[in-house]
Amino acid sequence: MQKYLSILKQYWGYDEFRPLQGDIIRSIASGKDTLGLMPTGGGKSLTFQVPTMAMDGLCVVVTPLIALMKDQVENLKTRGIAAAAIFSGMSQNEILMTLDNAVFEAYKFLYVSPERLATPIFMEKIKQAKVCMIAVDESHCISQWGYDFRPSYLRIADVREILPDVPVLALTATATPEVVEDIQLQLRFNKNNLFQKSFHRSNLVYVVRTVENKDENLLKILHNVPGTSVVYVRNRKKTKEVAEFLNLNGISAENFHAGLKNETKDAKQARWKSGETRVIVSTNAFGMGIDKSEVRTVVHLDLPDSLEAYFQEAGRAGRDEQKAYAVLLYNNGDAVKMKKRVADTFPGKDMVRKVYEALGNYYQVGVGSGLDKVFAFDIADFCTKFKLPILITYNCLKILQQAGYIELTDEQDSSSRVLFTVGKDELYKLKQTPEQDRLVHILLRSYTGLFTDFAAINEDTLAKRLEWTHDQVYEQLVGLSKERIIQYIPRKKTPFLTYVHERVTTDRVELSKETYDDRRDRYVSRVRSVLDYAQEETICRSQMLLMYFGEKETKPCGKCDICLKKRESTLTDSDFDEIRQIISEVLAIESLSVNALVKKIAHKETKVLQVVRFMIDNGQIFENKLMKLENISTLS
Ligand code: ADP
Ligand code: MG
Repeated sequence: MQKYLSILKQYWGYDEFRPLQGDIIRSIASGKDTLGLMPTGGGKSLTFQVPTMAMDGLCVVVTPLIALMKDQVENLKTRGIAAAAIFSGMSQNEILMTLDNAVFEAYKFLYVSPERLATPIFMEKIKQAKVCMIAVDESHCISQWGYDFRPSYLRIADVREILPDVPVLALTATATPEVVEDIQLQLRFNKNNLFQKSFHRSNLVYVVRTVENKDENLLKILHNVPGTSVVYVRNRKKTKEVAEFLNLNGISAENFHAGLKNETKDAKQARWKSGETRVIVSTNAFGMGIDKSEVRTVVHLDLPDSLEAYFQEAGRAGRDEQKAYAVLLYNNGDAVKMKKRVADTFPGKDMVRKVYEALGNYYQVGVGSGLDKVFAFDIADFCTKFKLPILITYNCLKILQQAGYIELTDEQDSSSRVLFTVGKDELYKLKQTPEQDRLVHILLRSYTGLFTDFAAINEDTLAKRLEWTHDQVYEQLVGLSKERIIQYIPRKKTPFLTYVHERVTTDRVELSKETYDDRRDRYVSRVRSVLDYAQEETICRSQMLLMYFGEKETKPCGKCDICLKKRESTLTDSDFDEIRQIISEVLAIESLSVNALVKKIAHKETKVLQVVRFMIDNGQIFENKLMKLENISTLS
C-alpha cells in the first residue's frame, strides 16, 4: 500500500486515500476484475489512475462523457502524466496517429468513447499495445436494466476477448442491485467482486412538499435557507420564467440549459460558481462535472425520470458536508404529467422509423452504407428541414441508439472542419464566384487531405492569407457548404451522431419487444418509483432512496420531512402523563366534543388524539360526547 500512497502524494499531492479507494486499488492491482460503486465526487478516477502508475503498460479508460474525458486528459497532463483521448469528431488521421502512439507506449492512459471502441481499427491497434487495465467509467451504461443503457458499451466484452489477461475495473455512481449484477455479467467478470460505499449522506436533508403553488414555496425555501441553490425544472422555457420570477422577488438567479450559446453557458456557470449569482435554474443539463461544494439547496420543481437521476441531482447539495436540503415540490398535476412523459419518451414505432428515414436522407447515407460514419448533428436544423417536433425526435433518436443503429455523443468543443464533397475534377468544372474561387485555392494550399476526410481548419489563418475579415471567411465557407461543394463544421461545441450500423431500409428497422416494449415497461416502473417517493407517507426518505439502491442496513435519518412528522407525533411518557392529566381536569368540569377538547389543550393535536384514544380504550373516558366516566351517572 505504501507504493500507492507515495504515488498519490507524488502526482496528486494527497496524503491519504478515502474510504474504499484503497480497497478497490488493492483488488484491481492484484489482477481481479473489480466493480466499485461510489457516489459522485467520491473519488473514482484515482482508483484506476493510481494503480496504473504503479503498473507497466497502458490503461484504457472507457467513458461516454467526452467533455469530462477531455478534462481528465488535461488534468493528467498537468501532473506530468502522458494521456490521450479518442472520440467521435476526431478525424480518421488523428485517431490512427493516437493509436499508433499508444502502441509505441507513448501514454499511460488512453481514454476512448464507447462508439469508437470496437471499430476495426481500434481493435487491431489495441491488440498490439501493452494494456495493463481496462477501466470502465459510468459502467451502469452497459446494463439494459439501467436508466442509461448504451449498446456500444456491450462491445467492451469484445475488447476483453482480444485482451484476455487484462483485468477490468468497472466504476459507477448509480446502480440498483440488478444493474450491479448485470454489469459484472456483461463485462464477463471472472468472479463477482463488488466494493460499495454507502450512499448515505448524513448532512443532506430530503424533503418532499405537496403544494399547490410551487413558485411561492420555492421563495419560502430560498428565504429560509440562505446560500447557493440549484433549481431543476423540465423544460428550457421554464428555466427562464422561474429565474425571472426569482429576480423579481429579489433573489439573484440565472437560467441554464443545453441550448444556450457556449460563451453564455460558461459565463453563467462562472457567475454562479463565484457566488455572484445565487440561484441557477436549470434543466438536467446542469451539473455534469460541476464542482461547487457549498450548495445549500437543490429544489426540484418537476419530477425527474428516475430515482437514479434524482439522487444524482439532489446529491449536488452539501458536498462540503455541511447541512443542506434536497427538496422535491410535488402536486397532483405531476402524476398526470408523468403519463404524458411516458408517451413522449416512447413515440410510436412508426414515428421512430420516420425519424430514421429522415436521418438517412439528411446525411445522404445510402442503404447498406454509412457504417462508422460520424456527422456533426444539429437537431434544430434537422427538425426544421423535416418538419419534426424536437422533443419527440430526440426521443426517437434515443430509441434508435438503444436499438443499436446510431450513437449520439454529448456536445464537444471541436475546431472548424472542412471536407470537400465533390471530387477534384468536378471542382474545377463548377461555376464559382471569384471569392469562392479564391477561398477554395487558399484552402487547398493550406491544408491536405481535404478530399478524403474532415481536416481541421482555422478561419483566422485563412482570413490573414486572403486579407479578408473572419466573418467574410465564415460567410464564404457557409456559401460553399450550401452549394454542397464542401461540408463545413464551424468551430463550436456540437453533438455528433455516428452510424454504428449501416443504414437499413426503413421497414427493416428492428424495434423488437426487447428493444422497445420491455424498455418502455422499465421506464414506466422507474417513473412509478419516483411517484412512490413523492407520495410516500411513512418511510424515511433517505431510507427509501438507499433501499432503492440495494442498501439493506439502513436507519431512519431523523431529519427528512417524514422523520420529523413522526417525531412530532411520537408521544413520550412525560407527554402522555401530562396530557392525560389535563384531559381529566378539563372533562371533570364539562363534557366536550373531541374537536373542542383538542382546541383547549396546548399540545399537538396528533398527540392529544393518541391520549384520548388510549383513555377511551381503557375506559377512563366515555366516547361520543367526551366526559369523564364517573360523571355519566349525573347524566342519567
Ligand atoms: P468521481 O469520479 O467519483 O465523481 P472524482 O474522481 O472526480 O470523483 O474525484 C472527485 C474529487 O475528489 C477530485 O477533485 C479528486 O481530486 C478528489 N479526491 C479524490 N480522491 C482524493 C483523496 N484521496 N484525497 C483528496 N482528494 C481526493
Ligand atoms: Mg468520475
